Amino acid sequence: MNDAEPLRVDDTFTDEERERGRKLFAQTCTFLLGAAQQEQIPESDFPEIAFAGRSNVGKSSLINALTCRKALARTSHTPGRTQQVNFFDLGGRLVLADLPGYGYARAPKGEVQKWTRLVNAYLKGRVQLKRVQLLIDARHGLKDVDHTLMTMLDQAAVSYQVTLTKVDKIKANVVEDILQKTHTELARHVAAHPIIRCTSAAKNLGVEDLRAELARLISPPGQMSG
Ligand code: GDP
Repeated sequence: MNDAEPLRVDDTFTDEERERGRKLFAQTCTFLLGAAQQEQIPESDFPEIAFAGRSNVGKSSLINALTCRKALARTSHTPGRTQQVNFFDLGGRLVLADLPGYGYARAPKGEVQKWTRLVNAYLKGRVQLKRVQLLIDARHGLKDVDHTLMTMLDQAAVSYQVTLTKVDKIKANVVEDILQKTHTELARHVAAHPIIRCTSAAKNLGVEDLRAELARLISPPGQMSG
């Protein structure tokens, strides 16, 4: 994308696309496994969507809202599972990968290196990975640590989309400011999707659209299978 591209914060979906998204995410979602190191990353032929973001960004809450589960992604908060990529099967049609949170203020250097090694290993050659949803707290916007991950994604040529979380916590005009600022910053990143999504897991805002978008991603118009 380039600087001249107008700000696009949303996209519209047909009722049919929304229904497809609803159906996709209404399917049974089960925890497959957690990979703490490269050798444990499973091979798979299913399309995959990954979720990334700073610790506490609201990643578990959004995955739970998408899949209409109360505690599915809480599994990532289980001690010992925080520093791993957690894989979930969605109805045998899609794999959701919950990447370990990053950006702890006092994370020891060794932990940061471990995170970087694991995430790079995951991103490398993951052809089935359709998209990374990069979650950003709407109150804070992009931070340096987010840019670090964005650069890793650019280098791995993995498409990613910024998804603002917790938009219920700020006023609409503040959301606009954050969107403008984020959009400008995204222009420097080659693999960034130009549309920014706004969500609130707490108020169920933007969740239906995100489902529709992810359903569209795994079966684009013309190849829809229901
Ligand atoms: P994670 O560490 O990224 O998985 O974050 P969590 O999903 O555990 O959320 C971190 C905190 O933010 C928790 O206290 C959640 O209740 C809160 N939270 C998450 N999503 C929202 C949201 O959409 N709105 C509000 N107001 N709070 C949220």
